[in-house]
Amino acid sequence: MAKRDYYEVLGVGRSASADEIKKAYRQMAIKYHPDKNPGDKAAEEKFKEAAEAYEVLSDQQKKANYDRFGHQTSGYGGGGHGGMNMEDIFSQFGDIFGDGSPFESFFGGGGRGRGGRRQNVGTNLRIKVKLTLQEIALGVEKKIKVNKQVGCSGCGGSGAKDKTSVKTCGTCNGAGQVRRVTQTFLGQMATTTVCPTCNGEGTTVTANCGGCRGTGVTTGEEVISVNIPAGVAEGMQLSMSGKGNAPQRGGIPGDLIIVIEEVEDPVLKREGSNIVYDLYIGFADAALGTNVEVPTVDGKVKLKIDAGTQAGKILRLRAKGIPDLNSNHRGDQLVHINIWTPQKLTPDEKAMLEKMREAENFKPQPGKNDKSFFDRMREYFN
Ligand SMILES: [Zn+2]
Ligand SMILES: [Zn+2]
Repeated sequence: MAKRDYYEVLGVGRSASADEIKKAYRQMAIKYHPDKNPGDKAAEEKFKEAAEAYEVLSDQQKKANYDRFGHQTSGYGGGGHGGMNMEDIFSQFGDIFGDGSPFESFFGGGGRGRGGRRQNVGTNLRIKVKLTLQEIALGVEKKIKVNKQVGCSGCGGSGAKDKTSVKTCGTCNGAGQVRRVTQTFLGQMATTTVCPTCNGEGTTVTANCGGCRGTGVTTGEEVISVNIPAGVAEGMQLSMSGKGNAPQRGGIPGDLIIVIEEVEDPVLKREGSNIVYDLYIGFADAALGTNVEVPTVDGKVKLKIDAGTQAGKILRLRAKGIPDLNSNHRGDQLVHINIWTPQKLTPDEKAMLEKMREAENFKPQPGKNDKSFFDRMREYFN
């Protein structure tokens, strides 16, 4: 089915003002609203068609595109029913009808959910957790002591002195909502709003609990065990639902949000998923070769230094780095070789070095059995 022109759908001219477009849509929405035309498929189609037309023509950018290119680039180009469902359409109504939407009663109104009592939700709690590089690399279970609002043990969170002091709300009879019949331009309309007496809770309390003075919450301490996966990074947030503050007078607690803080390691430096370690060896060891031990997040690891190793060489310890959070891949530890140059010399040592200086093999021969700094950098970052 070919799409009809949006201006035609709303019955306005191409030069219609924003106000005229809004007014035209308002009339269409009322005329074809499903509640006025129950079970009428044709009316529903017209209702959707009008909503889509308004969606585009009420948006300056989309309207300009539509005016120039037609349906192709309007955001709902091609065929089918476009991208709007009933939820989208009704959420538009706030703009169209303001607070006095005649349809509020059928759609819950104000986003409070579709009727029934309102559930209280507690606030979220944020807590910082410091992790060592080893804890980040291997993952860790942390026990965290949290001070927070907990449900009052005296009243079970209700805020009431005892069972007899909780009464079903007389205004809404426990429903949490009140229905009001009002006269609108469409005739009689029932609107439903949150009960003003009980604030949507459905009950009222006639005598307060002494332990929490009626709030249903007290300040308490809880030790929460958190499993922190390997591979997290500074600033990351882990959310534990229901571990935050309890709300007043019962309901769903908020979330506990754990913010990761990295504690810098004195020798192992993190570079994304790799770990970098600066190893210092003596000149003689570099020339003759040796075996050393280097620290890693998995403990000490033996490492062979070949005879003739140059300063600046980078040795790679596979899979000794940080695991990727979303895959099985684990980074490497890169061992950067530094040759230690002595800074104090005895006369004997000096004489020895003077002799070495003259020897042919002690003169630098760059490029021979060696990589340039550039090559090393490239290797390092790959
Ligand atoms: Zn209490
Ligand atoms: Zn009530």
